[in-house]
Amino acid sequence: MTRTLITNGLVITASDELSVDVLVEDGKVVALGTGQNWTADTTIDASGKYVVPGGVDAHTHMEMPFGGTQAADTFETGTRAAAWGGTTTIVDFAIQSMGGSLREGLDAWHAKADGNCAIDYAFHMIVADVNDASLKEMEALVGEGVTSFKLFMAYPGVFYSDDGKILRALQKGAETGGLTMMHAENGIAIDVLIEQALARGNTDPRYHGEVRHALLEAEATHRAIKLAQVAGAPIYIVHLSAAQALAQVQAARDEGFNAFAETCPQYLFLSTDDLARPGFEGAKYVCSTPLRPAEHQAALWRGLRSDDLSVVSTDHCPFCFKGQKEMGIGDFSKIPNGLPGVETRMDLLHQGVVEGHISRKRWIEIASATPAKMFGLYPRKGTIAPGADADIVIYDPTATQVHSASTHHMAVDYSCYEGRETTGRVETVLSRGKVLISGGEYHGKPGDGQYLKRDTCQYLR
Ligand SMILES: [Zn+2]
Repeated sequence: MTRTLITNGLVITASDELSVDVLVEDGKVVALGTGQNWTADTTIDASGKYVVPGGVDAHTHMEMPFGGTQAADTFETGTRAAAWGGTTTIVDFAIQSMGGSLREGLDAWHAKADGNCAIDYAFHMIVADVNDASLKEMEALVGEGVTSFKLFMAYPGVFYSDDGKILRALQKGAETGGLTMMHAENGIAIDVLIEQALARGNTDPRYHGEVRHALLEAEATHRAIKLAQVAGAPIYIVHLSAAQALAQVQAARDEGFNAFAETCPQYLFLSTDDLARPGFEGAKYVCSTPLRPAEHQAALWRGLRSDDLSVVSTDHCPFCFKGQKEMGIGDFSKIPNGLPGVETRMDLLHQGVVEGHISRKRWIEIASATPAKMFGLYPRKGTIAPGADADIVIYDPTATQVHSASTHHMAVDYSCYEGRETTGRVETVLSRGKVLISGGEYHGKPGDGQYLKRDTCQYLR
């Protein structure tokens, strides 16, 4: 038996802030208390620090193929970077290929991740090809712990599903308890605008933001929610970025419907000003949904406070500027879509606490507890309580750091936040009781992370 004791810190969960010691035994939290005279093999003094549950990032794309290239982080490098940033669980997306089965896609993603991850991981399934066979497979997957399925209203010819296919998948979700996740942008209309923009010679990265119009996100969000209501199924909107789309989610929730949504740090901290950076620099900020004008940020923070936005994930999908983003020089539609972010989410959201947008408990709720509950991992993940996995971050709330590609651990040649200073910093990271990060060093190895079978969404019981 190995015992670790974390003393003198402020334990913050989604529900409480307590000055208590935390006792960890064989990878699990076994007790919280004060004045207990507990003995341990290792004692970590967390004086002046926060003791928080490790982050749960419910939206990552490690080594994902996209537009003839592949996301730059492997499961090995990406999960290690996540650990550096205080995230101890990711839920990545396995992809069904067109004409292939869900099983083949899932097996391929297991092969990429198995034995390579630094932290625990689970999978959602991207359903690219809705047909009788794949609908049938969804039932089996829910039973195996893959309990959420992502569909796309964008990317015609790649991942796109029409409304009929989406309705059928939602009906299957209603039947099995699987949660449907939606990329809500009207891809058919966007493709017309892309063609028109390129024909006018508007080829720079900033046009990526213009053609992916906020109203086309709002329209798709509205349609997705209505299709879900018709099917009697819950729905989860991924990477929501437009205030108008948020209004659709809010209206549905006000009617008492199970519509959930996540946003990402890039929509809270970056804007179309970044997409419009001179030269080809804006390509670093090309992701979908796109960055919006800065005035959307206040609406998103408000949505996070009111719980109309329940989760902040990263949509981590990094492509190097050199050689990858550069594929779109002269044609913004060929820039691989995606940003690095798995390492910076906890810090940026803490910066949201520092700047007064959210409370400390809400920080933990949107970054750890709610994603764990949404995707069937709670209370094993997302909290510090007896019985939970000892995924624990000792966080220094006063240390400052300057973000830079020269110091981050993601396998990508730029940082979206280059030169930006934030307050707060990860000091120590435990994953199931094992110290992964301490004293500015990584002590883990590939394969420390285990695959997690998930329960169904815990907001629907
Ligand atoms: Zn994504």
